[in-house]
Amino acid sequence: MLKLTSLSAGYGPIRALDDVTFTAEKGEITAVLGANGAGKTTLLRTVSGLHRADSGSVHLDGTPLDKVPAERMPKLGMAHVPEGRGVITELTVDENLRLGGLGRGGRVKDGDLQRVYDLFPVLGDRQAALATTLSGGERQMLVIGRALMARPTMLLLDEPSLGLAPRIVAQIFGLIRDLVRDEGLSVLLVEQNARSALSVADHGVVLNLGRVVADAPAAELAGDDKLRHAYLGF
Ligand code: ATP
Repeated sequence: MLKLTSLSAGYGPIRALDDVTFTAEKGEITAVLGANGAGKTTLLRTVSGLHRADSGSVHLDGTPLDKVPAERMPKLGMAHVPEGRGVITELTVDENLRLGGLGRGGRVKDGDLQRVYDLFPVLGDRQAALATTLSGGERQMLVIGRALMARPTMLLLDEPSLGLAPRIVAQIFGLIRDLVRDEGLSVLLVEQNARSALSVADHGVVLNLGRVVADAPAAELAGDDKLRHAYLGF
């Protein structure tokens, strides 16, 4: 369980997160939604130690994360997949995945690699291909697969649907759903694409100008016309 308590963070005078409190339950997908600039990326970066909070706290299964540097997060079970699908284009699919396995320390296990190939057969078919040759959807699978190589319990995903065709978004969200169901993984999913995110999430938190304006089961948020029109754009 990931618990954010009165979390505030910003950039100089800009307050990107303002007193944010919510809980992402174990074994669930929690969607963090909101317009451009709502503070979603800052929230993920603050949780994963890439950005320092001004005040408040974050706990993962009771462990305070506030002073944990980003590079130690994998050891605590946290993996962050940033926006942008950054892969090493000169390396193969296989090599990119192996890099993901190094974060936790020790040797990369073949079993972990096979698990990713089982989850994403399209990557299994292209193990020796250079990452530069992958489509946008395949790259998104590769960055998620790379994060899974560290065997996280909590996966942070920043805008995985950005720029992908609806069919590919549905496929990727379906895979995330399967992962949560089969492996008990917890996911914090940041999305501007609220309609798709709510169709896969268990719970949703809506941010506006850095503040939480709604925190409820996904079905409830999707059925709230006023909230959808005001903050979710559908
Ligand atoms: P997007 O979907 O565009 O990424 P977001 O909801 O993720 O939006 P953030 O990127 O967290 O929002 O931005 C929240 C606020 O912080 C915005 O006002 C943004 O302009 C500001 N901000 C973000 N990064 C920086 C930065 N490096 N320096 C200064 N201000 C920033």
